[in-house]
Amino acid sequence: MRFADLHLHTFFSDGTFTPEELVLYAQKNSLACIALTDHDTVEGCERAAKACAAVKMEFIPGAELTAEMDDTEVHILGYFLDTQNAVLLEKIAKFQAVRQSRIHEMVAALNRLGVPLKVEAVFALANCKSPGRPHVARALVKERLIGNLDEAFEKYLKRGRPAWVPKAKMSALESVELIHQAGGLAVMAHPGLNRSDEIIPGLVDAGLDGIECFHSKHSTSTSERYLEIADKYRLLVTGGSDCHGFSKNKPLIGSVRLPYEHVQELQAKVAERKAAAGR
Ligand code: AMP
Ligand code: FE
Ligand code: FE
Ligand code: ZN
Repeated sequence: MRFADLHLHTFFSDGTFTPEELVLYAQKNSLACIALTDHDTVEGCERAAKACAAVKMEFIPGAELTAEMDDTEVHILGYFLDTQNAVLLEKIAKFQAVRQSRIHEMVAALNRLGVPLKVEAVFALANCKSPGRPHVARALVKERLIGNLDEAFEKYLKRGRPAWVPKAKMSALESVELIHQAGGLAVMAHPGLNRSDEIIPGLVDAGLDGIECFHSKHSTSTSERYLEIADKYRLLVTGGSDCHGFSKNKPLIGSVRLPYEHVQELQAKVAERKAAAGR
């Protein structure tokens, strides 16, 4: 049996692995195929594709776009993206700029609370175009301004906490269109973490192609619920670990093993769409 992990991060967003390290761990877990899905960026895809090619592993270029629908944050995974697509690159550059200015706002809020974190410390640590709250949390730990990452989120960075800053997001409909015009498939990420199933029909109307039924934070019954929903709306089924690096002494990669037949169904849908566009 061949397996895939279709939800992975690197240091190009809030993961800690390089693309090469990620591929090494994918190999250790005997995966046949991986997709890179960094938050609001495709920058790591070129290196990951090269590293995969070197070990004859299949690679799917992707991204996890931060979007919203009815005031709910929803993450839309894009798969088989043309990573040179000008419209895609221009649009995500805007949201990367939003992420960078949000770092300034979060640090300013921390400073007002008397926490002497410097914005340069966060940017030096993040060293990427798509920084986020995990980088602020890691900088707080590094500068010994808090004990650990969980505390940083609990005390300062979680929604509603004093240094939390909301993030301007594209609409979910825009994100689906953006992915489609870049040749990709749009998939709702970790629906079990959103607990907002009521937005699913709207996403389906917008052209959603699939739903991430298997995720490291989904229980068996949660996965089953979304398999039923996938069946009901004729959505493709995907899954991935959402590995961001080491977590509790081991990487999450490989903890979700998606049977390869689902990758073949994704490929068939991309091919079908390409054929229809060429007609
Ligand atoms: P952002 O996109 O900047 O709002 O940050 C969201 C990211 O922060 C998620 O993708 C997770 O990687 C991470 N995250 C969110 N909540 C927590 C938490 N409570 N503890 C640790 N990491 C978290
Ligand atoms: Fe993340
Ligand atoms: Fe996510
Ligand atoms: Zn993710």
